[in-house]
Amino acid sequence: MNMKTASLISYGCAKNLIDSEVMLGYLNEAGYVFVSDPEEADTIIINTCGFIKPAKEEALEALQNAVSLKKKDKRKKIVAAGCFIERYKDSLEKKFPQIDIWLGVNDFDKIVQAVEGKSYKKSKQCFLYSHTSPRRLSTPPGWAYLKISEGCSHECSFCSIPLIKGPYRSRPASSIVKEAQYLASRKVREINLVSQDTTYYGKDRGLKDGLPLLLGKLVKIKGIEWIRILYGYPEEISDSLIEVMKEGKICPYLDIPFQHSHPAIIKEMKRGMDGQRALKLIQKLRNRVPDIVIRTSLVVGFPGEGKKEFEDLKKFVQEAKFDHLGVFVYSLEEGTSSFPSGDPLEEKEKISRKNKVMDIQAGISYQNNLKYLNKQMDVLIEGTLKEDPKVLVGRTRFQAPEVDGVVFIPYAEKLSNVVNTIQKVEINDCDAYDLYGRIVP
Ligand code: SF4
Repeated sequence: MNMKTASLISYGCAKNLIDSEVMLGYLNEAGYVFVSDPEEADTIIINTCGFIKPAKEEALEALQNAVSLKKKDKRKKIVAAGCFIERYKDSLEKKFPQIDIWLGVNDFDKIVQAVEGKSYKKSKQCFLYSHTSPRRLSTPPGWAYLKISEGCSHECSFCSIPLIKGPYRSRPASSIVKEAQYLASRKVREINLVSQDTTYYGKDRGLKDGLPLLLGKLVKIKGIEWIRILYGYPEEISDSLIEVMKEGKICPYLDIPFQHSHPAIIKEMKRGMDGQRALKLIQKLRNRVPDIVIRTSLVVGFPGEGKKEFEDLKKFVQEAKFDHLGVFVYSLEEGTSSFPSGDPLEEKEKISRKNKVMDIQAGISYQNNLKYLNKQMDVLIEGTLKEDPKVLVGRTRFQAPEVDGVVFIPYAEKLSNVVNTIQKVEINDCDAYDLYGRIVP
């Protein structure tokens, strides 16, 4: 029987990656074999991201590359999926008539029927997987993402995600717990909770403290040693969440995108918490959760961000002393409520502002990393460095996967049997982002 081969390229956020893993799970059950090189695949699946300009350009290029491959071999099937497709399917269908299957964000679980041309009932809402969905994990064996909801009910004026994914929908806690138990049985030690707003969990189901209650269940699962909260929302950081974060298994780590600091910009962004209130929240977290590490994301170049507003943002970053920080340049997005305000700042100026904020942060990150020198820390060993297999790479509880720095352990003696385990590492050096150390025997 002919072997069915498929390749999948996943773009964008961790939530999209999970949807890709679910597609791989269904295809795997249907007997597909996965190849990393799309040139060798019968079916090429591109799971796109479409929420800001750079992501859309990347998606266009990926679709173009797949179409070029199909020109060389007409038998290939191309599946275009994800957020970019959900937003722009009509115009893309005209641009790329060679693409065979268009799968926005509603029917990831119908990937096999779609690829095999079988009919299926299209879902009217954004797909949200459950513990019964087959999922082919693509992250290193020691950790995994766990999506607790889809969609978003906030109305941030620059954001297209609610237009793509619809309102917030929480997964049942029982399904999340069953999935975490399954992951523990697969020797996953760290779970990273993701959604558009993890701190809003359960509110759509009328639950007041949905996330603290869920965390209370997850910390009881044997084998799971670290639980990390990603994508928080400033106003949703409750006292009960702060309390439950003192649980040993919950990483003293919070990712809270503040987006900006200046009150006028925050108002135009239709977000609630300005810089002064954010500094108070940060101080409260540092007072109440020992060693807490805070990551944030900011947007520069939003309409109305003049010199004064940008100076305010820089001052905020200097005062907040975040441990980790990412900066996006404002992207003008059709359908968002800030779209009518246009995109007044030159791209060059926006990028220069991004670099200025990142320069300030580099100095702060280095100072923050100095506090780990000569300390012994728990490090989840993820594997070895591609460029030098004698170097181990891992992360502490203070470093989230894929976005923060890592710990390098050069020339560790016992290599093989420490991968996917948590080891005691003594930190003996650092730079602005990464730490360096040796395993404590
Ligand atoms: S919280 Fe705001 S920025 Fe985040 S996904 Fe929702 S609307 Fe977008």
